[in-house]
Amino acid sequence: MDELKKEIEQLKKERNAVLLAHYYVDDEVQAIADYVGDSYYLAKVALKESKDVICFAGVNFMGESAKILNPDRMVVMPDQLADCPMAHMIDIDKIKQVREEYDDLAVVCYINSTAEIKSYADVCVTSSNALKVVSSLPQKNIFFIPDENLGRYIGSQLPEKNFIYNDGFCHVHRSITKENVLKAKEVHPEAEVLVHPECTPDVVALGDYVGSTSGIINYATASDKDTFIICTEMGVLYELKQKNPGKTFYSVGHRQFCPNMKRITLENVRDTLRDLKNQVELPEDLRLKAKKALDEMLRIAG
Ligand code: SF4
Repeated sequence: MDELKKEIEQLKKERNAVLLAHYYVDDEVQAIADYVGDSYYLAKVALKESKDVICFAGVNFMGESAKILNPDRMVVMPDQLADCPMAHMIDIDKIKQVREEYDDLAVVCYINSTAEIKSYADVCVTSSNALKVVSSLPQKNIFFIPDENLGRYIGSQLPEKNFIYNDGFCHVHRSITKENVLKAKEVHPEAEVLVHPECTPDVVALGDYVGSTSGIINYATASDKDTFIICTEMGVLYELKQKNPGKTFYSVGHRQFCPNMKRITLENVRDTLRDLKNQVELPEDLRLKAKKALDEMLRIAG
C-alpha cells in the first residue's frame, strides 16, 4: 500500500498532475488527494488549478465539469465506468417541452448531470449554492433538473417561485428511509440528524440540519453536540472523523454507499496517472454551451 502511494506521489510530480477527490470516494483515495471536497468546491479548485493534468477521483460528470472549465488541461478519470445514474435522468425533449410551455422560465440544472444536459440549461447549481443561485434568478418559473428531491427542498424555501420538478433521483440517498432514521433516533436519542437534500422530503423533514456534504461536515465540526446520525453517502465519514476525532457518527442503514464512487481505487488512480488514459474529451460546441450554465453559477454564487 505504501509503495502504491509513493508511486502515485511520484507520478503526480512527473505528470505535473493534481489529484482531486470527492468526499464519497474511499478513504485511502481521499487521503492521498491534493484537494478533497464536494462538487462545488472541486469545480472551483479545477478552475484555479494550473497543473497540466487534472486527475478526478469521482464520477464522470465531475470530470466533464473540470474539462468544461479547463479545456487546455488534460482531465483524466481513474474509471470511466464510474458514472452517476442521476446525471442522465432527464430527456432533452422534456426540457424543450417545458420551455415551450412557460415564457418566464429558467432551466436550473444540478451539477450532477451530463455535459449534454447542462448545455440545455440556463444555470447550474450545487447543493451548496442552489438556494442562493435560484433566489437570485429573475424568472418566476423554475424547471429544476434532474434531481426531484433537491428541487423540492429548494422549492420549499422559495414560495415566490413556481417550481416544475423532474423525476430524477439518487438511489443512494433514496435508500435512506424515514423509518430507518426514526429507528436510529430511537437508539441514539441524543444524536442530531444531519441530512443531505438529495434525500426524500420525509427524511429531510427529520433533519436537525439539512445541507451539502461540506455543510454537514462544517455543521458537525462547529456543533457542541458529539453524536450525529448521518443521512448521506458514508464516504463523508472520513473527513468527519478527521476533523472530529472525539465525536461519534452513525449511519441509518447498510446501503449508504455509492457503488460508482467506490470504483475509484489507488490502483486505478496510479494506472491513470501512469498511462494518462481515460481522458475526458468534449466537442467544442457542446463544451461552450455547457460552460455558459456553469459560468452563470460561478458568477452568481461567487
Ligand atoms: S451518491 Fe448519488 S448523486 Fe452522488 S454519484 Fe452516487 S448516485 Fe450519483
